[in-house]
Amino acid sequence: MTVLDGPKPGICIVCGRKIPKRLETMSFSHSDEAAPTSKAACQALTNKRIVAIRYWHHGRVRDASLWDGQTYTSEWFCTNNCAMDQGNASAHHGYRFLWKLRS
Ligand SMILES: [Zn+2]
Repeated sequence: MTVLDGPKPGICIVCGRKIPKRLETMSFSHSDEAAPTSKAACQALTNKRIVAIRYWHHGRVRDASLWDGQTYTSEWFCTNNCAMDQGNASAHHGYRFLWKLRS
């Protein structure tokens, strides 16, 4: 077993791949004439980073995926499979964690 340094934000401690960012969606209806028409105009509406943007066919923004710059879907793992691998390895090496309230 290899014991590594503490986790790096956004990097899975098991496989080293990127952990998905936790995103919010800002969306505009098809008929919203006040909807922005560019990424820059959309960015002006939020302090969060726009990581993806989609447009209606008429050119106004349909929705944008926003990231706060620091939150990931997990603190440690890229996927549940990596979390299970970590759990199996921990159990194999004798670690036992008890959650007594679990039924
Ligand atoms: Zn992983």
